[in-house]
Amino acid sequence: MGFLLSTTCEDGPSARSQRAAVRSTPVPCVLSFDVEEHDRIEAAVGLEISPAMKRCYRGRMGWSIRWLLSELEKRGVRATFFIIGEVAQRVPNLVRRIHRAGHELASHGWDHRRILSQSREVFLEDVRRSRDVLEQISGEAVVGYRAPTFSIVRSTAWAIGALAELGMEYDSSVQPIWHDRYGVPDAPRQPYIVRVGGSQLLELPMATARVCGVNLPVGGGGYFRLLPLWITERALAWSRSSDQTTAPTFYFHPWEFDADQPRLPLGRLNRFRTYVGIKGNRERFKAFLDHYPFQRAIDLKKALSHCLSRLPIFDLAESAGGLYARPDRVDATNLCVQTTYLHSPTSG
Ligand SMILES: [Zn+2]
Repeated sequence: MGFLLSTTCEDGPSARSQRAAVRSTPVPCVLSFDVEEHDRIEAAVGLEISPAMKRCYRGRMGWSIRWLLSELEKRGVRATFFIIGEVAQRVPNLVRRIHRAGHELASHGWDHRRILSQSREVFLEDVRRSRDVLEQISGEAVVGYRAPTFSIVRSTAWAIGALAELGMEYDSSVQPIWHDRYGVPDAPRQPYIVRVGGSQLLELPMATARVCGVNLPVGGGGYFRLLPLWITERALAWSRSSDQTTAPTFYFHPWEFDADQPRLPLGRLNRFRTYVGIKGNRERFKAFLDHYPFQRAIDLKKALSHCLSRLPIFDLAESAGGLYARPDRVDATNLCVQTTYLHSPTSG
C-alpha cells in the first residue's frame, strides 16, 4: 500500500488527472495511540488509586502495547504513538521498542494534565520535558503533539502559539465535534492550518462522520467501540470522494485492548463511556487493520507539505466562523508564511 498523498498533492495538469484516477483508492488513514496508564484517564481524575493498583495498570499497559506492536508488525503497519513523558521515563525500553519497530514517537504532554489547568509557561515546560525525554530515548526529533483529553479548545487556543514556539510541526488535538469535555464543532474535519494570532500549525483532526448535519466522532475511543462500523466506513467514504488531503486520523489507547483489567470505580455514565465494547475490541481492531491502509502522522505531514495551498485555514481564537480561507483562496504570500512555520527546525 502506497502513500498516495505524496504523489497526488502536487498541483498541475498531470497531478490533477492522477488525482482523478486514484479517487476511488482509499486514502491512508493516520493510525495513532495515546499512551498513558488506565488510571490517568480524565474520568479517573480525583479518584483514590493505590500505588499497587497504579503498578498493576502500568504493567497491563505494557502488555497491551506489546500486543499492539505484534498486530501492527504482522500487517506491516506503522503508527504514531503519542506518549506522556512520565511513562517514557518509567519504561524507556518499551518506548525504545516502539521506536525501533518503525513507529513515530510524539508528545502527549508530561503527566496527562489537561491544558485547561495550565498557564502558558507551565504548558511550554510540560511539552518541552516530554519531548526531551522521548528524543533522548530515540535519538530522533519529536515534532508532533496531542493534548491530553483533546484539551486544545477555543479557550486554550494560545497553546498553538506555544507549540509553534517550541518548533513542533503538527498538532492533533482539536476535535471538530460537540462534547461536554472538549471540541470545536465548527473546526474543519480534514487536515488544515490552524491559526492563532501570528502563529500557525498543521492540524490533523480525528475522523468524523457527518450525520444529519452533526459531526459524529468516529475516530476512536468509546465512539469506535460503540458505533457500528458502517458509520466509520461512511467517514472513510467521504475522505475517498473528497480531496486527497482529507486523510482521517484514528486514535486508540492501550488499555482499550485489555478486557480483563480491574475496573475503575466510575459513575454510571463514565463507566459506560470507558468500558463499552471493550470485550470485543481486539477482534474489531484487527478487522479494522485488515480493511484499510494506514500511515504515521509524520508521513501525512510530509505529504501535505507539497500541497499546503489546498488546505483550509481556521482561526481557532475566533468565537465562531473561524474558517476564513478556503484552499482556492490562499494566495502565494500566505502559503509562503505557512511553509515557513511548518518547516521550522525542531529545537532541543
Ligand atoms: Zn491521553
